[in-house]
Amino acid sequence: MQRRAFLGSPLLAPALFARLGEAISNLDLISTHEHLFSEEERYASQPDFFVLADHYALNDLVSAGLPAGDLVPLRDRRLPAVQRWRLFEPWWRHARFTGYGQALRIAVRDIYGISDVNAGNIERLNAAIAAANRPGLYRDILKRRMKLRYGVLDDYWRGEPVRPDPEYFRLARKFDWFCTPANPAALKRMEEVTSVSITSLDGLVRALERRFQQSLDAGLTAVKSTIAYQRELLFADPSKHEASAAFDALARGGNTSRRQLEDYMFRQVLRLTEAHNLPFQIHTGIQAGNANVIANTRPLLVANLLRDYPRVRFDLFHAGWPWPNEVMAMAKMFPNAYADFCWTHILSPASARQALDEMIGAVPSNKILGFGGDYRHVELTCAHSVIARDNIARVLAARVEAKEMTEDEALALARAFLHDNPASLFEPAPRA
Ligand SMILES: [Zn+2]
Repeated sequence: MQRRAFLGSPLLAPALFARLGEAISNLDLISTHEHLFSEEERYASQPDFFVLADHYALNDLVSAGLPAGDLVPLRDRRLPAVQRWRLFEPWWRHARFTGYGQALRIAVRDIYGISDVNAGNIERLNAAIAAANRPGLYRDILKRRMKLRYGVLDDYWRGEPVRPDPEYFRLARKFDWFCTPANPAALKRMEEVTSVSITSLDGLVRALERRFQQSLDAGLTAVKSTIAYQRELLFADPSKHEASAAFDALARGGNTSRRQLEDYMFRQVLRLTEAHNLPFQIHTGIQAGNANVIANTRPLLVANLLRDYPRVRFDLFHAGWPWPNEVMAMAKMFPNAYADFCWTHILSPASARQALDEMIGAVPSNKILGFGGDYRHVELTCAHSVIARDNIARVLAARVEAKEMTEDEALALARAFLHDNPASLFEPAPRA
């Protein structure tokens, strides 16, 4: 009962919470998942407040009722900021307290010193964002404020694999598009980027292998999949003959089911992931955006893959929200399953706390990955890390107060979640 009261109003033991929170806020961080631009891309892109809001807060404004037709003027940089604010504000009012809204407010407050954006200060805020948008911003935010060792980067907007700046990043790449070709033109595109002729299923597999090698050459650290944005996460184990038949129909331009081809190719990606001893980062749980099939993303749908590929370490993203219990069950049962709280602290801060608290009591602590920012802009990733550290501190302080662990043990857990566990996942000792 005592702990519940503590979580409800976090300051039953303010000295303990302050001490632990301070210690946790100083821990080095490895982010399991980012979409951050390279520094050059960032400075060239010249974001303003509305660009920051576009990832992901605007999703909640749309959900609140912001008309689709208002998105165009809202994103139109030629219009005065105050005019765009008038479209934004009526819906922002309803989205300020969501995790996305909190992250945006913390970013604007901590980095730009504005505690409450409004029509009177929006121009000043945009001027401050523009003034800070120059070399030094990444070092200041990612290193000095956020204490980031590195983030695992999914630069999905980039066609070709490119080695990212090792000061900040490690490379994750997706191969989903080799699993879900929709038409002969998609095969043609794969031929262009790999220089491999694709006239059969074997050709498609060879092209995938070539793409995998190109990504390894650029420093591939993790394989990533967001295939749950396109289809259900249940993968059968079709024969090569069945997959070939589906390929041939596709290559002829037929409109038959491609499911067996997709399932077969997804397993080819897992085969390569295993061969190169890389972690496999898979999106589970709700998708970003405002109109997708949430039921496709249920974490338990991938449980058969955990059995079929026991040597592949599955990094189960987003704690499977809104089904963190499914990720918890898999991380408890399978040695090769990890529960990853990337994105989770802003999807629902309270759910993240609840899930972390439950997992501490159910899952070995080396299976829990505490943070991934999942943003394009450094201000927001930094703000997300503030929420994540606060969440972790609140959960652990309650356990210390309940005398389930010492303060030192709590701090060691926080260090494992935020640094040591991702380090051992992404920097494994060579396999015997
Ligand atoms: Zn992401």
